[in-house]
Amino acid sequence: MGRIIGIDLGTTNSVAACMEGREPRIIINEEGGRLTPSVVGFSRKRERFVGDVAKRQMLIYPESTIYGVKRLIGRRYGEAQAELSRLAFRVAPTGGDEIGIEVDGHVYSPQQIASFILSKIRKSAEDFLGEPVTEAIVTVPAYFNDRQRQATKDAGRIAGLDVLRIINEPTAAALAYLTQRKKSATIAVYDFGGGTFDISILDVDEDVAEVRATCGNTHLGGSDIDNRVVDWLLGEFKKANGVDVSGDKMVRQRLLDAAERAKMELSTALETEIHLPFLTADEAGPRHLQTVLTRSTFEYLVDDLLTATIDECEKALNQAKCAPEDVDEVILVGGSSRIPKIQAMVKALFQRPLNKQFNPDEVVAIGAAIQAGVLGGEVSSVTLLDVTNFTLGIEVEGRRFAPLIPKNSTVPVVRSQLVSTVVDSQRVVKIHVLQGEGKWVKDNVSLGEFELTNVEPAPRGVPRIEVTFTIDTDGIVNVNAQDIRTGAQNSIVIHSPTSMTQDQVDESRRQIAAMDAGSDEDAEGRRLREEVEQQLYGLESFLRAHKLRLKKKDIFDGEQALKRGRMALVKKAKAESLRELQAYLTRFHGHISEKISAGTGVAVGVVED
Ligand code: AMP
Repeated sequence: MGRIIGIDLGTTNSVAACMEGREPRIIINEEGGRLTPSVVGFSRKRERFVGDVAKRQMLIYPESTIYGVKRLIGRRYGEAQAELSRLAFRVAPTGGDEIGIEVDGHVYSPQQIASFILSKIRKSAEDFLGEPVTEAIVTVPAYFNDRQRQATKDAGRIAGLDVLRIINEPTAAALAYLTQRKKSATIAVYDFGGGTFDISILDVDEDVAEVRATCGNTHLGGSDIDNRVVDWLLGEFKKANGVDVSGDKMVRQRLLDAAERAKMELSTALETEIHLPFLTADEAGPRHLQTVLTRSTFEYLVDDLLTATIDECEKALNQAKCAPEDVDEVILVGGSSRIPKIQAMVKALFQRPLNKQFNPDEVVAIGAAIQAGVLGGEVSSVTLLDVTNFTLGIEVEGRRFAPLIPKNSTVPVVRSQLVSTVVDSQRVVKIHVLQGEGKWVKDNVSLGEFELTNVEPAPRGVPRIEVTFTIDTDGIVNVNAQDIRTGAQNSIVIHSPTSMTQDQVDESRRQIAAMDAGSDEDAEGRRLREEVEQQLYGLESFLRAHKLRLKKKDIFDGEQALKRGRMALVKKAKAESLRELQAYLTRFHGHISEKISAGTGVAVGVVED
């Protein structure tokens, strides 16, 4: 068995780590970096780039550069629609309300895009370790629902990685803490990244990390902050120039880039100058953007976003039944936690200094590597007790939802509930398993259903049927129903209610291969067009140079050949016709060249002095 790697698949950046002996180590990517931008770019030549190269082309080709796919993975088009309109690339609904990402006429699923990032990480890890890598632990925000988790696993499978376990990002950070500090404590992990926010309260002991509560928002991150700054810049530009440039995608991308840089600078400086020459142009000439953003204006612009994270912290403390002063240490994770105002707010809430010992960009990947080490046997003594992120229960009379395992229960967990029939002599009971926090069935996600038959005939409410839910450490749910009097029972195992089948994974890989082959075809077409263009240029020059010595018929034929060739280029003829045309041009050019040589008797080259 090869080494298992830990991957923090981030909205903005991804990081991989592995155990080297007993020490976790960051895997250096092919460009020599520790972070790989989670960006996939497609060039005009339809080549695919991932990471730094893709990020660099974002300004020039915003429509074919895909970023922030983590915010799309495992989500339905309908529920993500509001955010989708802000993206620079095209997103369209595909069958079953799935999200499709369209680049140059090809449609990719978010899982496929994420698989390109994972493939790059896998390749970097293989180069770094000098051995094949096929297994990984991948982290996700604590607030990812089951669909998002499964989609992340599927992305791994498409990339040829068996995702042995998905762990929550804050839990991973706690693992890193635990292995370094080796002392009992209640800790809070405040994780504010590029696209998501998570807060977890955990009890850590020498070798156990137990999550007490976890809260957060999968749609709150650094990119929302950047968008606020972009809106402000658009307003400033309009004030100064009277021009609204909000509809121009290229301009928006430049503004986003400048906004992120300004935001980062304001983490250390009190003000920053934003200068974007030639942002747009009209009859009056080029228009430039030049302005100053102060830290206090910035803080005012994003105040509600920062406050929303503090609200989630308070919720988590409540759910953990813990006062802020009961928390011994607060660990900051994620790039956005570098914002000074955030640090001040978190410090004020918990009333203690913040632990800045860990690199907020890397600590999650380090934790994932430690978990990989536990599975691989390099790390022996860490037990991870995670919690359920959603309430699990069953449907009861009146289309209502009856919770059995509340959210934030520590897994593994077993819970039972007695249910009964609702009509006299009812022989069959349907157990419908649901996940969510809604009061009604329609407000929750259906995970599956099964029937218990042969219930003993009796007046309604008399039979006693015990429904037992079991969740193991991998989050696999087993539901069993048993008629207590007769012992009749039935059960269902919910492994991965929304994951892809192996056939679907294979089909997804085939689609990518076909699209890649398609791009090879395009490359071939481009090469042929360039060659034909050169041939036409050569033929035209030849006809011009020998106009006086060629017969009228040859000149006419030559002009026809040029016309035919140019028409084929304009009409973007297929590779096959281009090849035929090439052959014809070669033959024709050869034929009239021969005639010229024959006319002169002996062909000689001109000697120029
Ligand atoms: P992560 O998802 O943890 O990689 O975090 C990426 C997010 O952190 C992006 O939105 C970055 O713009 C943001 N970020 C990185 N460094 C800083 C900084 N110094 N100040 C503010 N935000 C930052």
